Amino acid sequence: MGERAELRKKAKELKKFVSTIVSEINQLTIEEQTSLLMKKWPNSIQGTKEKQQKILPPLKNVKKFPKIITRFSPNPDCALHLGSVRAIVLSHDYAKMYNGDFILRFEDTDPRLKKSSLEFYDMIRDDLRWLKCEWDSEYIQSDRIQIYYEHARKLLEIGGAYVCTCKPEKFREKILTKKNCECRTLSISDNLSRWDGMLEGRYHEGEAVVRIKTELDHPNPAIRDWPALRIIDMKKT
Ligand SMILES: [Zn+2]
Repeated sequence: MGERAELRKKAKELKKFVSTIVSEINQLTIEEQTSLLMKKWPNSIQGTKEKQQKILPPLKNVKKFPKIITRFSPNPDCALHLGSVRAIVLSHDYAKMYNGDFILRFEDTDPRLKKSSLEFYDMIRDDLRWLKCEWDSEYIQSDRIQIYYEHARKLLEIGGAYVCTCKPEKFREKILTKKNCECRTLSISDNLSRWDGMLEGRYHEGEAVVRIKTELDHPNPAIRDWPALRIIDMKKT
């Protein structure tokens, strides 16, 4: 009636007519309904017969890398929400598309603000299995702290990182204008001494962070000299 205005006047009559037809159709079995539809209006059910298979668009620059490795890295401080499905499926399917590896990595190194709980590790694993996204290897970051400490020291030794003791607001002011803080130009031995200080408890929470040297004009200010390691005081609440 939306398309044929003249029929609107006959709405009552049409209603009777339509309900007669509907009850006739409802008496047919599904098979009879399908064959009637196929005979009279074959195009109307074509879509259900030939489901289009959707595939992921190829990734750029894959040839540059010997192997494609993707990861999903939840913090096990709560159950996954629906929004995680996208990251899980895309990471898994892209790894498989290129015969690569899909890693599950638990980011559980904040024992105070994002305190993990054992039950969530298993819930997350179950969710991935339910999505049929099996992972090739699994890492639990809190088991690997010593490895990260070794890498932090190596980075400081080669000048790829520095220990920043600036107040966060002061650092932010500088980095937003693409300028470095004074800590960035410290000598390697000064940095290593500050690092030892972090490990020995000479600094308190918020007083020192290890920053990775990046390009200072990176388009994303959050990436510029991002903090890789920081102190968490477990006595604080
Ligand atoms: Zn600094």
